Amino acid sequence: MKIKIHSKHIPFKLKAAMHSMCGYAISSLGISDRLAKNLNLTIHMGHHACEGEARVAKDSNRYRPRDFKIYLDHHRMDVDDYNRTLEGTEWGHRVLKTLAHELVHVKQYIRGELSWRDAGLLWKGVNHNPKNMLHYYDLPYEIEANGREYGLLFGFLLVWTDLEKKFEKELNIFE
Ligand SMILES: [Zn+2]
Repeated sequence: MKIKIHSKHIPFKLKAAMHSMCGYAISSLGISDRLAKNLNLTIHMGHHACEGEARVAKDSNRYRPRDFKIYLDHHRMDVDDYNRTLEGTEWGHRVLKTLAHELVHVKQYIRGELSWRDAGLLWKGVNHNPKNMLHYYDLPYEIEANGREYGLLFGFLLVWTDLEKKFEKELNIFE
């Protein structure tokens, strides 16, 4: 798996965790190592229309996509739904949870459950085209992504705590 993260002012440790999250989530979601090896993930961190989005890359084969772009707007993660400021670990976890959410969509594209066609975004061949936020949360692919994001974060953090201890020196060197 090739992972590129384009970002400014993101702490080195969080970037390292994001790299690890990609491998962890893709494997936890049942994608084989053989297939995972051929994936290209480009993560753009910056202003975006929503907190996160996963897209099939323009030049990727739409019928067998392996190249993906993930957009994460970390500015939108600075405050929670109640306007409380998120900092440090809490903010980092929010970034990782949003990344996990988008990786569920990547899994859906790889499996062909979600597909990008001229008709738009299709889930198992059907274009759901949500009309409002309520519809959006009812979308089957959002239900799956929202349902799995926390479990992926939770499982990842168990692994990450060990990695962090093991590579303490290397991870703190850039801080
Ligand atoms: Zn989503």
